[in-house]
Amino acid sequence: MTPRYLTRFDPGSVREATLNVPYQRLHSSLFPEVEVWMRRDDLLDPLISGNKAYKLVYNVQRMREQGLDAIITCGGAWSNHIHATAAAGRRFGFRTLGVIRGARPKELSATLQDAERLGMKLHFVTRAEYRRRYSDEFLSLAGLEQYRAHFIPEGGSNREGLDGLRMLGEAIEATAPVVFDQVWLPCGTGVSLAGLQVGLGKGGTVGVPVLKAEGGIQEEALRWLRELDCPRIPAVLGGYHCGGYARQTTALRALQRYFEADTGIPLEPVYMAKLVYALSQHCSAGKLQPGSRVLLIHTGGLQGRRGFAPAIK
Ligand SMILES: *Cc1c(COP(=O)(O)O)cnc(C)c1O
Repeated sequence: MTPRYLTRFDPGSVREATLNVPYQRLHSSLFPEVEVWMRRDDLLDPLISGNKAYKLVYNVQRMREQGLDAIITCGGAWSNHIHATAAAGRRFGFRTLGVIRGARPKELSATLQDAERLGMKLHFVTRAEYRRRYSDEFLSLAGLEQYRAHFIPEGGSNREGLDGLRMLGEAIEATAPVVFDQVWLPCGTGVSLAGLQVGLGKGGTVGVPVLKAEGGIQEEALRWLRELDCPRIPAVLGGYHCGGYARQTTALRALQRYFEADTGIPLEPVYMAKLVYALSQHCSAGKLQPGSRVLLIHTGGLQGRRGFAPAIK
């Protein structure tokens, strides 16, 4: 399956594209007795992939409503959000500035090289400064208060970001080929999980945290759901972070290789490999009813595979 390109970036156009994302039945011995499907949101666009396109679209709308033509956001050296924001700015005609954690290295990561090539201005801050990224003074501390720009927090995780994921949930309601018992996705902040749960009418969501702060992720998701008066509560499955954010274990690497060879679907190691790992462990431990129908969301982020090239081969 080949990705399509988004040619317009407003909620209506992205909704249309979301309704056309393919679903794929997975036949793999990793998931005994369970009917597993994958929604290929990685194919939404080769540069502005899945999850991060959804988190951006209402932010870009917000920027335009304010009469602005620039976005400031922040992230680390391998951030999918930085990459997607830079690509969207280049294609849809707005300026982008990325506040990046840590000193500028001699050689930029592949992600940041792309971001610069796509026209994003990079502004490096110390780790101590970066830790204040949720403070109101963050931009003035970074010396950026003079810019007239819409600010998006790390990972695109704000209310606008959540609304984009709600759109994904609604698209699943409208297009799912079968009725799913559970919809699974990987979590960094938990905002995507909350948005998806709000958008899905029925059916439960399951979030797999990819970092150690599993309790914090659950709290964040619950906080948003309370704010939006959503009575349905997602399940958050701890224990699959494999040592922490962007960490890998031998078992995780082996699982990723096996899955990719078995299904022909590429994963990236930070989010998607851990999602598939969690589901395969659940299946082999018999924690799912035989015959359950599970949908995995491929949230994209494949650009980040390059950071792991030697490990994955
Ligand atoms: C950012 C990201 C996520 C996590 O989204 P949150 O809303 O922060 O939980 C999941 N998968 C991929 C590929 C991502 O880039």
